[in-house]
Amino acid sequence: MNTYSVRIGKSRNNKPITSYDSLLRLEYEYRKDDGKFVLCGKESWPEVKCLDCKKTDVVWAEACFVPGHRICPYCGSHLFLNSPVEEDGEWVLNRARFY
Ligand SMILES: [Zn+2]
Repeated sequence: MNTYSVRIGKSRNNKPITSYDSLLRLEYEYRKDDGKFVLCGKESWPEVKCLDCKKTDVVWAEACFVPGHRICPYCGSHLFLNSPVEEDGEWVLNRARFY
């Protein structure tokens, strides 16, 4: 049973949002988690493409959220970057959970 929701972006911007304030205002809708994730590589700061629009690196958004929180500056999806569990593991991007 899902006890949380995820935020999937609804914006259809042709250019990335550049101010943090505007990033937080991008439209999204709450949905059940679809379980999407991507492996992002093993570098300490991997390039991370959005799960939904795949347009660009997602943006650091920890100022109003928990460490690891990211928001896509094109579509507004809220995502979470997990550090590797094992020493030689990969970073994983999945959906941020809202309880
Ligand atoms: Zn996106």
